[in-house]
Amino acid sequence: MRRKIVAGNWKMNGSKDLVQQLVGSVRSEAESLDNGVEVVIIPPAIYVSDVVARSGNRLMVGVQNVGQWSSGAYTGEIAAGMAKDQGCSYALVGHSERRQLFGETDDEVAAKVESLVASGLTAVVCVGETLEQREAGRAEAVVASQVKAALDNVVAGQWDRIVVAYEPVWAIGTGKTATAEDAQAMHASIRQVLAEIGAPAESISLLYGGSVKADNAAALFAEPDIDGGLIGGASLKADDFVSICQAMPASTNS
Ligand code: PEP
Repeated sequence: MRRKIVAGNWKMNGSKDLVQQLVGSVRSEAESLDNGVEVVIIPPAIYVSDVVARSGNRLMVGVQNVGQWSSGAYTGEIAAGMAKDQGCSYALVGHSERRQLFGETDDEVAAKVESLVASGLTAVVCVGETLEQREAGRAEAVVASQVKAALDNVVAGQWDRIVVAYEPVWAIGTGKTATAEDAQAMHASIRQVLAEIGAPAESISLLYGGSVKADNAAALFAEPDIDGGLIGGASLKADDFVSICQAMPASTNS
């Protein structure tokens, strides 16, 4: 059965005050959810231990990025094993902001995925096309190539630690969301790519990200190949984030 996941990516936002205000109320609302959704908070790494301390059994915690190495002279980086050591169970990898602003390449993404799954974390592998690529009719090809490159080093026995997040670059932080139909079509295409590379496609959770809000989440989550969401801006307000978690239907997609 595929995991249903709603993950909040705080990006470079937050403070100790926000942790204090938001995590407790998300946690108590999450405790009353009966739709089986896994709720994940992904704060800046410096706040991970503060979030973990308030997360209880119901919330999962993640990091937004890791270095691909296990330790060493890499000033400013954190390793997958360190995130695990601090109580994280998830990590984003290949977010479009890292690809675009920090020049992260497909090879680096693949090395980070390898390091994450070897450390026992679930890697949320972010893929997505730009507006230019979509308008040129290349969206599916671009996303397929990102998925194949990112998962190149994953071996049998590690697939249960892989989640793919489809995040069209033109929808992130812009208020523009893919229609539920377009998002579903891309998710179905990703699932086909996963099958082609020998992954257990039907058991891998696929998330949609890109301006998901309380008022569009239900339509997205109702699609058969959309198993949850990666939420940026709307994860910074407890009420909005909880409403998105509540929008997950109780029935399973698989
Ligand atoms: C994201 O940061 O992954 C994201 C989807 O952001 P937003 O929801 O703000 O578009």
